[in-house]
Amino acid sequence: MNLPCPTCSANELRDTALTDALPARACPECRGALLSLIAYRDWRHAHAAPDEAFNDAGEASAEAADNKAMLRCPQCKGFMTKFRFSADAANHIDHCDRCDLVWLDHGEWRLVEQLARSGQLAKIFDTAWQKRLREEQAKRRAEARWREQLGEDYAKAKELRGWLAGHPKGKELLAYLFLSQTEGA
Ligand SMILES: [Zn+2]
Ligand SMILES: [Zn+2]
Repeated sequence: MNLPCPTCSANELRDTALTDALPARACPECRGALLSLIAYRDWRHAHAAPDEAFNDAGEASAEAADNKAMLRCPQCKGFMTKFRFSADAANHIDHCDRCDLVWLDHGEWRLVEQLARSGQLAKIFDTAWQKRLREEQAKRRAEARWREQLGEDYAKAKELRGWLAGHPKGKELLAYLFLSQTEGA
């Protein structure tokens, strides 16, 4: 079946292979790739690899494209849903839940390759994964606010917080510090 590219619809997708013969369809122009999660699960079954063998996701994020527009699924023409997959990468990948298809902009495969290898690629679209991701993002925003507010003392405060958190008398120590501020004791 011929499928149009969801981002530059004039082009048709062509059969290709991602890492280790994972079948996908790619656009010759924008070099994005359409991946079937059904094909992915079959591939994963045959190519299970230990997580620790792949640690190169980090530096690729700068060169990965990230299409901001709503895309239509090339197969059913319905709108795809955008999902972030990690708090470290700002990229979104597009998913059609009717067809179980994923669209990866050029370079995004490298960002999700490690997740794919460790069997987690299909889990990104679960509510539990997305909930955890939102919590992580909220935590990072809070950290960023504290960093801004405390300025150069942030690192020292964070170190003190870590020390208190792991201390058997953490609460007592905190009370002592708190009272020294409020009562001048
Ligand atoms: Zn394209
Ligand atoms: Zn679809």
